[in-house]
Amino acid sequence: MGITALKNYIGSQWVASQSSEILDVHNPATGEVIAQVPLSTVEEVNEAVATAKEAFQEWRETPPLVRARYMFRLKELMEEHFEDLARTCTREHGKILDEARGEVRRAIENVEVAAGIPSMMMGYNAEDIAVGIDEECVLQPVGVFCCVAPFNFPAMVPFWFMPYAVACGNTYIVKPSEVCPISQNQLFGILDEVDFPPGVVNLVNGAKGVVDALLTHPDLAGVSFVGSTPVGKHIYSTAAVNGKRAQCQAGAKNCLVVMPDAVLDRTVAALLTSAFGNSGQRCLSGALVLAIGEVYEPLKAQLVEEASRLKVGNGLDEIVQMGPVVSQKALDRILGYIEQGLEEGAELILDGRGVQVKDYPNGYFIGPTIFDKVWPEMVIAREEIFGPVLGIIPVADFEEALSIIEDIPYGNAVSLFTSSGKWAREFKYRVRCGNIGINIGIAAPIATFPFAGMKDSFFGDLHGQGRDAIQFFTDRKVIITRWF
Ligand code: NAD
Repeated sequence: MGITALKNYIGSQWVASQSSEILDVHNPATGEVIAQVPLSTVEEVNEAVATAKEAFQEWRETPPLVRARYMFRLKELMEEHFEDLARTCTREHGKILDEARGEVRRAIENVEVAAGIPSMMMGYNAEDIAVGIDEECVLQPVGVFCCVAPFNFPAMVPFWFMPYAVACGNTYIVKPSEVCPISQNQLFGILDEVDFPPGVVNLVNGAKGVVDALLTHPDLAGVSFVGSTPVGKHIYSTAAVNGKRAQCQAGAKNCLVVMPDAVLDRTVAALLTSAFGNSGQRCLSGALVLAIGEVYEPLKAQLVEEASRLKVGNGLDEIVQMGPVVSQKALDRILGYIEQGLEEGAELILDGRGVQVKDYPNGYFIGPTIFDKVWPEMVIAREEIFGPVLGIIPVADFEEALSIIEDIPYGNAVSLFTSSGKWAREFKYRVRCGNIGINIGIAAPIATFPFAGMKDSFFGDLHGQGRDAIQFFTDRKVIITRWF
């Protein structure tokens, strides 16, 4: 396959960027350059916003039932291209095909939910709030929104937002990750086939320069960001200063708590998927196992034994269970954290460094890696490694586990493995975290629920997906009426 020069999609036209700054996009399994992505100019951002703004008036007047039909058509075309989309996702990101299929499935699911817009966007009313006076609340679209997306779910993440925004009657600009931009470019090929009115959906490739130009543009109404915590904080504050609404889903350091009464085999299977699925590059990935009491020794032994058997390789090969990490830079960062863990005195009981993958000498591979005797104050227990590195912390009891979780600055996901309803209830009631799993390793909300997050994992109030999305992408207008 040749190298694709990616273009922007503005006003239903594919346009080549005039930027002289162009980045290579690599296939992480082979190291080959598979595409080039432009870091678009401020003028190109301005053009996208102007086009989206121009399209807004007519689109907001399009009846919700008609807007929903675009979602049905989009779903149909995404189903048709399902396998192709999954393969593209694997080629640019490295994740195994089954994970890529799951990601595309969740993107489609959000389109399905957004197709319910005629009822989801209904307002409410009350008669006789005073004698002869009625009051109603209507939901109206706001204007031009954008999404700033991360590399780790290159097909799905903009679909946590865009289908709802557009179904509500807003117009939209996607800024994909410059590390993995190809899936969104392919999806915009599908959006083009859906034949939205020009300017309703737009794509601008780039990085920080494009984001800053969007956030300071007077005609942008709001931003949905997903990515790391430092960038999320920057985006949230820049959006606020510029009077935009913002929802920023950020980084994570997720704990998996295992009680002595957990069903061990099922727990180990869930822990492995949580820590090593997507090569640990999920904001919901388990990063620390808090092993309580006597479960610690048997759990550790079984985890190491089963993790060491996971087959690492090119995600396009159906027998592979874990793909590479996304880039050489990511690999270097992960290796740096492993060095740091060793210097801090943690015990490396499964070393994934130097894993050899036959036929792919230039891929960014690292095998499952497990540290034992990790202590909560270590850097490897506090910072997001975002790779297949799991730390085990032996813990005396449930209360100690809760206090370790409380001290972690992030609050994205947490799981408890137990056979006790009492502990499960106590856990979900007290723990300060947005997405909670009870005997579930990856607590990923389906599209009808908000993708939650707390503490340094989320900045804003309304989350992506479901009912929150409808609130985020609309204004509420209250009308009080009296007739004489
Ligand atoms: P990142 O923060 O490096 O980049 C995310 C996006 O922000 C990209 O589009 C990038 O171009 C842009 N960006 C980067 N630096 C910028 C700057 N200084 N100013 C403006 N824009 C900037 O994140 P990433 O490495 O692509 O993704 C991994 C991170 O995303 C992890 O921290 C992971 O936990 C997080 N994540 C969170 C969720 C969630 O729902 N909470 C979901 C997926 C990923």
